[in-house]
This record gives sequence, C-alpha cells and structure tokens, in this order.
Amino acid sequence: MRYISTRGAAPAAAFADILLEGLAPDGGLYVPEQYPSAAGKLDTWRSILDAQGYAALAASVLSLFAPDIEAGELEGVCSRAYNASVFATPEIVPVTRLADGRYLAHLSDGPSAAFKDLAMQFLGQMFEAELSRRGQSLNILGATSGDTGSSAEYAMLGRSHIRVFMLTPEGRMTPFQQAQMYSIDDPAIVNIAVDGVFDDCQDLVKAVSEDLDFKAKYSIGAVNSINWARVAAQVVYYIACWLRVSSSADEPVSFCVPTGNFGNILAGHVARQMGVPIKHLILATNENNVLDEFFHTGIYRVRPASGVFATSSPSMDISKASNFERFVFDLFGGDAERVRHLFGELLPSQGFFDISSTPEFKSIPERFGFLSGSSTHADRLAAIRQVWASDKVMIDPHTADAVTLARRFVLPEPCVVMETALPVKFQATMEEAIHLDPPRPARFAGIEEKPKHYRLIGKDVGELKGIIREVVGD
Ligand SMILES: *Cc1c(COP(=O)(O)O)cnc(C)c1O
Repeated sequence: MRYISTRGAAPAAAFADILLEGLAPDGGLYVPEQYPSAAGKLDTWRSILDAQGYAALAASVLSLFAPDIEAGELEGVCSRAYNASVFATPEIVPVTRLADGRYLAHLSDGPSAAFKDLAMQFLGQMFEAELSRRGQSLNILGATSGDTGSSAEYAMLGRSHIRVFMLTPEGRMTPFQQAQMYSIDDPAIVNIAVDGVFDDCQDLVKAVSEDLDFKAKYSIGAVNSINWARVAAQVVYYIACWLRVSSSADEPVSFCVPTGNFGNILAGHVARQMGVPIKHLILATNENNVLDEFFHTGIYRVRPASGVFATSSPSMDISKASNFERFVFDLFGGDAERVRHLFGELLPSQGFFDISSTPEFKSIPERFGFLSGSSTHADRLAAIRQVWASDKVMIDPHTADAVTLARRFVLPEPCVVMETALPVKFQATMEEAIHLDPPRPARFAGIEEKPKHYRLIGKDVGELKGIIREVVGD
C-alpha cells in the first residue's frame, strides 16, 4: 500500500512516512494508491468484533492501510487507544435505536466528549510508537476554537517524545471547552491564549511552520484533520456501526453525518469505496453550507472569514472543507492534473470552481450515494426537543443537525445518525431547547473550578517562538 498526492507531483510513500506529515510537498493531500477491498472480509470482521471487540477490529482494518507497520505493534497501539479506561463503554462506539427507527452511533464517549477522540487516540499511540522506533521527538503546534485542541491534548498527554503547543483565541471558547484544555497540568501540554480571534491563531501557526529552519530545529508537526491516519482510524467506526445494525454481509445501511471539514464523512466514503454495503451518505451542514451548496449545484465556493456565520453548532462553522479535495480526486477517477487545476489554480485565483456541467458531477448520487442538506438554529432546537420528548435522550446541537437531515430523507434501509459530541459541551443551547442542564460525565466534574494552566501572548510570532524555545530547550 503506497500513498500518493491528489495533485500528482509528490513521490509515493508508505503509511509510516506520511503518518507525521501534513500536506504533500506538492500542496495536495495523501491518498492510498488504491483503496483496500472489504470483499470477503465482512464476515471475518463480524466475528472479530463479536469475539474480541473494537480494538481487534481496528487492528484488522488498519492493517490494510498500514501494511508497513508490524502487526503486533498495530495491535498494541489499537488496544491502548480503544479500551474501557479511555472510552466510557467497552463497545467504544455503542449504537442505540431511536423511537423513529433510526439509529444513533455514539462517537463521543472518549476523553474530550467529541468524535475526534476516536482518531486522535489512535494518532497519539501511533505517533509514540513510531517516534520511539525512530528515536525522534515531535512538538505538535496547532490552533483550535473548539473540539480539536482538547481532543489532541488528551490524546498526547503522557505520550513520550511528544509535546503539544495549542493556540486558542483568548476568551472565545465555551467555558467548558476552555476548562477541558486549561485544567491539564503537565509540562508537555502548553496552552497558549492569543489576544485575538481564531484566524490570528492560525496565522501564527502558519508563520512558524513557514520558517523551515525553526520548524526543523524544533521538530514542529501538526495533527490537523487532513492527516490521513485520522481518516483511516475513522473508517473503523463506519465498519463497526455497519456490523452492529446489519446481520448479513450484503445488507445496506445509510449514514447521516454532521459535517464541517469533510473528515468524518470522508471516512464513510472510504468505507463505501472499499465495498462495505453503505447505501447513502447524508451530509448535514448548518448555515455554513459550503458543501451542501456543492452537492446541490456543482459549485464549490469557499467563504471569506467574514462570511462564516457563528452558529450553535460551532464545530461545523467552516469557510472551506479541508478534506474535500480527496473526494474530488475520486470523483475524477484519480485525475491529479484536474484536481491540481481546480484546487491549485481556480480556487486560489477566483475563490470557487464550477463542475456542474461535467458527467462526473451528475454521477455523484448514483456512484457515491451522497445526499445533502443544511439546517438552521430553529431546526436544531426542534430536533433536540423532539428526541428528548420521544426518547429521553439528549443530543448535542451538531448531532441535532444530522437528526434533522436524517428525517428529511425517508429511506428503506436502516439509517445511522453519527453523534459527534456530548451535550455537556453546549450547555447554553441545551438550556434554550429543553430548559435542562445536560448530564455531566464524572470525569468532567468541577473542571471549570480547577486551576487554569495557560500563557497569554499577543499576535506576535516572536513571542510564540520564544515559548517554544524555552519549553523545548536549545
Ligand atoms: C469536528 C466536528 C464536526 C465536523 O467534523 P468534520 O470531520 O470536520 O466534518 C462535527 N461535530 C463536532 C462535534 C465536531 O467536533
């Protein structure tokens, strides 16, 4: 299994080589040369999940994407990432049934209470294993306005050879999200509040990453959503969920996914390309409907930062979808030249591209099973209220976007709604919808009252580099 770039001008590489990489050197994203096939494996995976559990299934699926990682090592990584001391249940991703017959896949029972833990826990363990093997260390630098930062910090906490420097816009996260990060007391986890907005944080990360000497000297890396290992780890839960709602090898199941950067749903697409019997992938966006617009019109139009609405499902408030290029690569049958033209030329120069008249665009529903739609704040409140009334289950506002969309499409096959966060993270919206405080898992008891560990800096790359130098040492 080799990995190539969606823009076709980077050398092919193995899984271990791209594990610690972000963009390919030609500006594209890494994708497998060919997707591994699930043909003939579904029954085996069913027995593995039933008899040995989620971690063993993960090791089996991921070995297809990472044949260069020794099998025993991959098994160790997966069993340390996916167990009942890290996730709230031994199933890791339990699936429950709602009164309306749809299913809810609980992807948010990990340490940070968001689905990102499922990928990030794997990444933390895999990074540690690979860095030990190479005798290297890594300083992860990132910016976050929500769930990525806490998920990364919980996953990297205690991993040897790894430090995290995470930038947040001062005072702009929910008190709970801020407490999740700032309550961590460990010298390898460095929270940095920036006197500015999220874009300022991102600009600082970019400025450091573009200083190649500094980047090399201080072993700066990233864990953003374009990392292929994150996508691969997410493929596992689509397969686990399919196994949990089907009973035979050819039973179709559809999934409905709250979508921002197209990371979660891309994993569903990969599972479908592998031959897992997934019928439809319903893409749910909020008012920031960049992707819904594309699937309806064939026009992909990125928004300026000022054109992004601040909504009550904030983790989906995006101006562009960083993983989308991987889908377009598949849409055009791996034609890297065409992808380079669309993403490397048209998008930077005119801010959009239009493929509405191509036969490929028209083939999407039939070939790839995508359906899409967007919802509003009022839809989210209504969905939270309805599921509470019918099931006594509290869903968070992101999951509510997906429930809204799942109900808009009446499908003959079972439909699994991906739950991406616990409601405890979004107290104000839950109050507004059902006038109740969401339940708080014991691990988050009193975190807002714990001492806060962070440093405050201005929008100054010199200051940021100074902190990195001081912590890492020359
Ligand atoms: C990150 C996130 C999303 C969006 O996921 P993508 O992979 O970016 O599409 C949705 N919901 C929650 C709660 C998230 O944290």
